[in-house]
Amino acid sequence: MAGKDANEITYDSMTGLKDRVTFFADVRRSAAAGQGRHMVLIQLTQLMRINRKHGATVGDGLLRAIAEYLRGVDPAYSAYRIANSRLTLLGPEDDRTRVEELTARIQKRFQEPWPIEDRGELHEVQAKAFVVHFPLKLRDTENDLVDKMNYAVSVFQDKAREGVLFFGEGLNEDMLHRRYVMEEVRYAVEQGTFQIYYQPIYDCGEGRFTSAESLVRLVTRDGAFLSPGEFIPMAEENGLIDGISWIVLEKVCRFLGGHPGLPIGTVSVNMTGQQILDSTFIRRIEENLEKYRLDGSRLRIEITERTVTDDFAEVRKVMECLALKGIHFYLDDFGTGYSNLSSVLALPFEVIKFDQSLIRMMVETDKGLKTIGLLAEIMHENDCSIVAEGVETEVQVRSAQERRLDRIQGFYYAKPMPEEDLMVFLENMRKNK
Ligand code: C2E
Ligand code: MG
Ligand code: MG
Repeated sequence: MAGKDANEITYDSMTGLKDRVTFFADVRRSAAAGQGRHMVLIQLTQLMRINRKHGATVGDGLLRAIAEYLRGVDPAYSAYRIANSRLTLLGPEDDRTRVEELTARIQKRFQEPWPIEDRGELHEVQAKAFVVHFPLKLRDTENDLVDKMNYAVSVFQDKAREGVLFFGEGLNEDMLHRRYVMEEVRYAVEQGTFQIYYQPIYDCGEGRFTSAESLVRLVTRDGAFLSPGEFIPMAEENGLIDGISWIVLEKVCRFLGGHPGLPIGTVSVNMTGQQILDSTFIRRIEENLEKYRLDGSRLRIEITERTVTDDFAEVRKVMECLALKGIHFYLDDFGTGYSNLSSVLALPFEVIKFDQSLIRMMVETDKGLKTIGLLAEIMHENDCSIVAEGVETEVQVRSAQERRLDRIQGFYYAKPMPEEDLMVFLENMRKNK
């Protein structure tokens, strides 16, 4: 900073701890001197909530109590506040046992409440913290370090982990891999290079394939294949999912528009529950239908229950509006742990897709078989059809039919395939009839 002494120590006014500028200056100084460091990150997770619930005075008091504790927690470690709810400790590299013991001790301390002495009262506040131990690499830049910290916090959040996290080589590799995947996805969104595979779905009543699901595929610039199971959840977190979905939707509309005589009635496209509430959603769908001269009745939209928002009234409006154009919705992945019946009952889904985990359960025990039968009855009562997902064996096919599941999707009948293969597949089916 202009006019500032590079060695000047600056402090966070709230806690009196050294601040972010000093933290990175200290890290750089260690690196320049060739000294490694152990760093402990303490990410507070409930500060906002505490501020909202008890007022900012309590939140500030809590921060000061935690700062006071960290300042005295180990004489070899300096404490910093580097962001609103992010505190760090920097200490010597030599003693690994010491830093491990220290990290565990901090984590344990956070299981107890903190006394807040402001306003002459004594509040006890339970604060949660993620505690991460990083052996600092001297070549890490400031950005590298911030990335690592953010990644460590996201690991805690994703996996709802407890305890202490050690940021070793494994986690570093995960982070780099994740960065690589996101760069490839970003590139593919810019260039529109995703490929679309189609998986035919067998209709048990009609005894033929009447629909298909579109599934996105990504081959990276260096020729590697990335699984959507891996990059879709990441893209959902990073906001890239929107770009992917519209590319897929456009490609599917182009394919369907170009093949009016395709012997399958509908193709479904996966979207997220948040997306359909976007104010441009309906218009963009209409634009695609017009552009490719496609009748909406050939298109279906799948959303996973995980992403359906609670705002049922708004979701319902969008569904009803698109239903007027013949576009109906499927509820995807029913039975994956997010499921409850509320969205099934509140929203006009045409189809409920029973996840592979339910289908497996169905053939494992009598109880499983009965439960699936009852669930199917409930869905049918609600005018929903059922697609059994992930069906791989003849036993599963028989159980699905016995329980009156309407359609079957799975490797037993067909794997997802590129459009040329789909055409050949459907043609062969027609000939063999
Ligand atoms: P999903 O929508 O539930 O799609 C079904 C997944 O099950 C597909 O995995 C499909 O290949 C796989 N599958 C089908 N039959 C079988 C089977 O018999 N056995 C097994 N083990 N698996 C089977 P895929 O293509 O890897 O996609 C994974 C997930 O990624 C999808 O699950 C969906 O949630 C997401 N996804 C894929 N394409 C898109 C897309 O275009 N947009 C969005 N938003 N998500 C997508
Ligand atoms: Mg799906
Ligand atoms: Mg599914």
